[in-house]
Amino acid sequence: MFDKVLIANRGEIALRVVRACREMGIRTVAVHSTADADAMHVRLADESVCIGPPAAAGSYLNKIAILSAASITGANAIHPGYGFLSENADFAEMVESHGFTFIGPSPEHIRMMGDKIAAKKAAREVGIPVVPGSDGPVESETDAQALARDIGYPVLIKAAAGGGGRGMKVARSPSELVDAIQMARTEARTAFGNDAVYLEKYLGRPRHIEVQILADAHGNVVHLGERDCSLQRKHQKILEESPSPVLSTEDRARIGEIARSAISRLGYRNVGTLEFLYEDGAFYFIEMNTRLQVEHPVTEMVCGLDLVREQIRVAAGAPLGFSQSDIRFTGHSVECRINAENPNTFAPSPGRVGSYHAPGGLGVRVDSALYSGYAVPPHYDSLIAKLIVFGANRDECLMRLKRALMEFVIEGIETSIPLHMRLLDDPEFSAGNYDIHWLEGFVARNT
Ligand code: ADP
Repeated sequence: MFDKVLIANRGEIALRVVRACREMGIRTVAVHSTADADAMHVRLADESVCIGPPAAAGSYLNKIAILSAASITGANAIHPGYGFLSENADFAEMVESHGFTFIGPSPEHIRMMGDKIAAKKAAREVGIPVVPGSDGPVESETDAQALARDIGYPVLIKAAAGGGGRGMKVARSPSELVDAIQMARTEARTAFGNDAVYLEKYLGRPRHIEVQILADAHGNVVHLGERDCSLQRKHQKILEESPSPVLSTEDRARIGEIARSAISRLGYRNVGTLEFLYEDGAFYFIEMNTRLQVEHPVTEMVCGLDLVREQIRVAAGAPLGFSQSDIRFTGHSVECRINAENPNTFAPSPGRVGSYHAPGGLGVRVDSALYSGYAVPPHYDSLIAKLIVFGANRDECLMRLKRALMEFVIEGIETSIPLHMRLLDDPEFSAGNYDIHWLEGFVARNT
């Protein structure tokens, strides 16, 4: 096992990794920008190194500075968290070539899944159902017109290098298609430096259902059930739950087994998530994330596993200590993403936190790096806390979530807590009656 792990991230996820390492007897190194000198992850890690200025390009994305910090501190492995360099194949390669272990998959698997066209092709080849669409990048407008006619409107144009919902455009008719392709290309070029786009059937009312997998370097793969992440705004997840309120036991077992056997055929190692859209009883693969996800705690709550611990163990070459038949799913879990933003306009709201009081009690978990007096910097993602609640069933879980949200005090900045409170009062949400477009309508009605 590793003696020392460097965490190339910040915020709640850096803290999450520090916690897992400490419980495993592994020492930790935090890296931070000058804006994060007082951050909680820096305080709780065993050592810390300042790696650059506030802008992420000079610090959390600065590969050389991170590798230097690992060298200076004598770390054996680097945990990338999520976001930043977590799905950067070049970084994973550099980490390994400098003699450190990258706590993640091989660079080849990151590269394959980072190119969504290659990912869909690989998925098809290992028996995963995909959304109908183009087999490769869209080459010409004529090809796109012909293909869109075949699969039927509306269609979605997506960036091959896409992420975070950027570079995606819907075309509802042939006349919209040319403009949509142009816009998607421009957005993709600006955001990802790669303007390859592809075409997919646009599903009208699907749910976003993703399957968590865990694979070691010895060919053992398990799936840890699904998460329903259909509550999204601008393709960004707001609230996630496990199990999904709509999946039957048969569908759950079926998609879990498809994911498990596909991952095993790919020879993949690490935690990973296969994302699907689910409509009328059918699953359609959209992408695979080759890292830990923000919403991993809901899976931990219903499986009773520490995913970060397992991720570190498999990176160190240890075999999984259990097989699929040992995995037991119990109860229900929901995660609310709490962002530093106005709950009506969604405008970011960085600044100094006044009083801070996190909820507690049975079945309540808060993953957050906030504390009273901490100044939320304006330079990074607005996620400041994750409230994760567990209950024996969905009803109990939602009642508990409501009381936990009522207890949560974060003064001095605006947060999305009021949005979550309103959501919990909505009868459609309570009934589990929502698809990926539902939240946008809810927000429009309620703000
Ligand atoms: P990103 O990597 O940018 O997050 P994804 O491919 O994961 O992109 O898609 C993000 C979200 O966009 C999905 O969760 C879903 O809400 C929506 N989406 C993606 N593909 C489709 C589709 N074919 N039809 C309808 N909605 C889609």
